[in-house]
Amino acid sequence: MKKVVAKFGGSNLKKKEDIQKLVGVIKAYNRPMVIVVSAFYGITNHLITSLAEVKKDESYINTLTRFLRELKEEAILENFEEKHWQEKTMRLVEERIGELSRYLTGVHYIGDVPEFVEDVVLSYGERLSSLVLTSILQANGIEAEEALPEEMPLVTDGEFGNATVDYKVASEHVQKRLGEDKVYVVPGFYGVSPKGKVTLLGRGGSDYSAAALARCLEAESLDVWKDVDGFMSADPKLVNAPRRLKSLSYAEAAELSYFGAGILHPRTVEPLKRLNIPINIGNIDAFSGVIEPRTVVCGTEEVTDAIIKSVTYSNDFCILKLRGAGVGLKRGVLAKVTVALDKAGINIKSVITSQIVINLMLSVSDIKKAYRIVEELELSAITELVVEEQISTIAVVGQGLLDKPGISGRLFMALARQDVNVKMIVSGASAVASYFIVDASDQDKAIGAIHDEFFG
Ligand code: ASP
Ligand code: MG
Repeated sequence: MKKVVAKFGGSNLKKKEDIQKLVGVIKAYNRPMVIVVSAFYGITNHLITSLAEVKKDESYINTLTRFLRELKEEAILENFEEKHWQEKTMRLVEERIGELSRYLTGVHYIGDVPEFVEDVVLSYGERLSSLVLTSILQANGIEAEEALPEEMPLVTDGEFGNATVDYKVASEHVQKRLGEDKVYVVPGFYGVSPKGKVTLLGRGGSDYSAAALARCLEAESLDVWKDVDGFMSADPKLVNAPRRLKSLSYAEAAELSYFGAGILHPRTVEPLKRLNIPINIGNIDAFSGVIEPRTVVCGTEEVTDAIIKSVTYSNDFCILKLRGAGVGLKRGVLAKVTVALDKAGINIKSVITSQIVINLMLSVSDIKKAYRIVEELELSAITELVVEEQISTIAVVGQGLLDKPGISGRLFMALARQDVNVKMIVSGASAVASYFIVDASDQDKAIGAIHDEFFG
C-alpha cells in the first residue's frame, strides 16, 4: 500500500488544545502513514534569539531550557489523562532538552556558533514536537514511532542552513526506515549531510522535508494541514469575496508561494512534480471528520475563463539598482556581482536589466549586506548604487497567462483607475506568472483593484 505523508506546521501547534485536533485528523486517516511536524509556533525564532544570548551569558541556557520544559509540560498535562504517560513523556522531554543543553554549553564556552552547531540547535524545536506527538498518539492507541532524519539517513547536499535533499541517495534509506505499516512521526526542517551532520532545509523548511519524504517514498499524496482554507484568489483580509481555489497546477502553486502566498513553502513543489504526487491542502479548523482537501495541487494545467486564478503579494523584495551609463552592454558586470553575492550566501530573487541600470531584486534581510558587497567590488562601470525598500511585489498567476491577449491591458487599466503607479513590470519570465512593483503604500489598493477586475 502506498503511503500518505501528512505535514502539520507551526500554525497547527499554537495552542495546547491544537494537539487534540491533530490527533482527531490522524485517527480519521486510519492508515499507515508518515507525519512530518514543525516546531511549535514561534519556537524556531525563539531558539535563534536564544543562541545569541547564550554566547554571552551562560545563565541563559537555563532560561531557555526552563521555557521549553514548561511549554512541553503544559502540552503534556493537557493531552494525557494517565499519569504514567505524563511521566514517561516528561522523562523523554527532559532527556532531549538535556542534549540541547549540552550543545548550548559548548556554544557558550567557545563563544561562537559554528554553522554545524547552529543547525543542530535549531532542529530542537522540531525534535521536541515529534517526541511529544509520538507519545500522544501512542497514548491514544495508535501504533506510532518517532523516526529521526539521521536514523534514515535523509541525506542532503550538506549545505548548512539551506540544504537540498539528495533523492538518489536518500530514497532507499527512507523506504527502508519507514517501511512498516505504522504511523511514523518525523521532525521536519532538517536532513543530514553525507558526513552525517545535521543540515537545515531553510526557514519554513518542514513543508520541503515532507515533500522530500513523499518523493523518496513515492507516496500517494502529500497532505499539508493548515489553519486556513488553502489557496485563495487573494488574501481574504484585503478583498471582498475571495474565492477558494479547488485546484492548481504545480507551476501555479510554486509561483504563488514564491510571490508571498503563505500556504506552501516555495520549495514544496519541486520534489513532487516529477512523480506527479498531488499536494492536498487541508484546513484543520474546518475538519469535520472526513479527510477532504481544500486545494489540490497536481499536474493538471487547467486554463480558466478568467485566466488569472490568484493575485498575491510579497513585502520581502527590495531593489538594488546598479546604475552606470553602459552596464547593459558591458561584459562581466553581472557575473562579478552575482559571484560575490553568492559567496556571501545571498540569493538573488530576480534580475531586470537595461542599458543604464541593473536591478537586482533581493530579500529585505539581505539588502544592507548586498549593498556593501557590491560597493566593495569598486566596479568602474557602476557609478551609483541605489536601494529601493518601500515596495510591494504583486504577482498575478494563472495557466495560459501569456497566451491570451488583453490580460495585461485589463490589469493596468484596473490599476490606473485606482491611480496606482507601477514602478516596474516583469512578464514572460514565467508562463504562469506576471509580476510588478508598486509603492508599498499602494499595495492594498492594487490588490483590491485587480481582484475586482478579474473576480468582481
Ligand atoms: N520551524 C522551522 C521554521 O520556523 C521550519 C518550519 O516551520 O517549517 O523555519
Ligand atoms: Mg512553517
